[in-house]
Amino acid sequence: MEVAQYESYASDGEIIQEQRASIDRDSSSVNSKQFATEPTITLQLWTSSYQWAKSNKNIICISSDSTKIYYIPAHHLQSVSQADLNRYKKQKFTTFNLFKKSFDIWCLEMENDSHWKRSKCNCPAFMKNFICKHVAGMSIRLKYCKPSAAAKTIPIGEKRKRGRPSKARPALLVQ
Ligand SMILES: [Zn+2]
Repeated sequence: MEVAQYESYASDGEIIQEQRASIDRDSSSVNSKQFATEPTITLQLWTSSYQWAKSNKNIICISSDSTKIYYIPAHHLQSVSQADLNRYKKQKFTTFNLFKKSFDIWCLEMENDSHWKRSKCNCPAFMKNFICKHVAGMSIRLKYCKPSAAAKTIPIGEKRKRGRPSKARPALLVQ
């Protein structure tokens, strides 16, 4: 890229970043980097997302022109009461107990014209990995995506262990 071209974008930080990224992604360049443009979903996460999608949680959806906000009962809770939701939205808690209760609700935001993987959740897993079972699970429920068949092989309620899934044992070959 020529310097002059680069400078002409100097007023717009975003465009520079894009240009920069396209240089990094150019595989012919010695310094090319592998870019993850979307969070990767492990089989473990697909499994917990599928199980989450199958759970009977009552989710409240508040939709606007550009986004849908889903209020999700956290942990083992099945529903969010209207009173708790109102308090949550105002983020005003009169007692410590009510404040603690605000962590019983996760808030998931999906933009209408954006890919489901770009949704945002406020649960701790999402803060760490930029993806969580709420994003993937909600997308399974909404049929934006499908979990692989392998994700469905663990009985509901059981967790998949880390690592490679065990292969089916071969049947006896010789008697
Ligand atoms: Zn989440």
